[in-house]
Amino acid sequence: MRLTTLGTGTISLTAERVCAGHLVEAGEVRLLLDCGSGIAHRLAEYGLPWRAITHVAFTHFHNDHVADFATLASAWKFAARFGRIEPVTVIGPEGVSAVVERLLAAFDERLEELGFPIAVLEIAPGLTLELGDGVRLGATKVPHTAQSVAYSVSRGGRRVVYSGDTGYDPMFGEWARGADVLLCECSLPTEVTIPSHLTPEQCGAIAAAALPKHLVLTHFYPQVERIDVRSLVAAHYAGPVSLASDGSAFEIEEG
Ligand SMILES: [Zn+2]
Ligand SMILES: [Zn+2]
Repeated sequence: MRLTTLGTGTISLTAERVCAGHLVEAGEVRLLLDCGSGIAHRLAEYGLPWRAITHVAFTHFHNDHVADFATLASAWKFAARFGRIEPVTVIGPEGVSAVVERLLAAFDERLEELGFPIAVLEIAPGLTLELGDGVRLGATKVPHTAQSVAYSVSRGGRRVVYSGDTGYDPMFGEWARGADVLLCECSLPTEVTIPSHLTPEQCGAIAAAALPKHLVLTHFYPQVERIDVRSLVAAHYAGPVSLASDGSAFEIEEG
């Protein structure tokens, strides 16, 4: 499996980081986790197979996680006129169908007129979907919006867990236990944090419960970039930590 962090920023826009989105390539599956503003271009910029994405999974429906889906869908529609495009499955928590329809409707687009097979599936927390080629997608509820979920992508005995946006919940650390990569939001310093996001200290506490082989942090607001995230995490968790950039890639050898 390979994880590429495409967008490691937030709706607090910066030059270096676009909004949230990450690509997991696992066997024949090319799964886009979230699709905030800037992600469609990042896929092209990094030479990734944007035409051949097989699945898109939204963690929740905040603008910084969904807005570029409309761009990507139109890009696929245009690409489809010049040859085959793979079927696409769009996955999300309760309400995903309505969100996708509204995003497309803003540009006079409809799912059934995009020119390639596309399905929209709801995933309930606690359930697991088989994406094909031995790839499983699991979801668990996290405290951010009423619908927010975190995802687990597994194949060949390896597992990538993505928090999406979340507040602190020790249960999430338990659920993520043993992940090869835990991709975790790290939004704000303690002084300015809000209950629906994590501080570096809370990322460290979650990692102390999850004990991932590699903790990868993302979703940085500008305020958190001015503090020493690594040392705050290290006070709780001694394992390997990376602060992701747009375009960082993490290879996970399958067993
Ligand atoms: Zn959010
Ligand atoms: Zn966000």
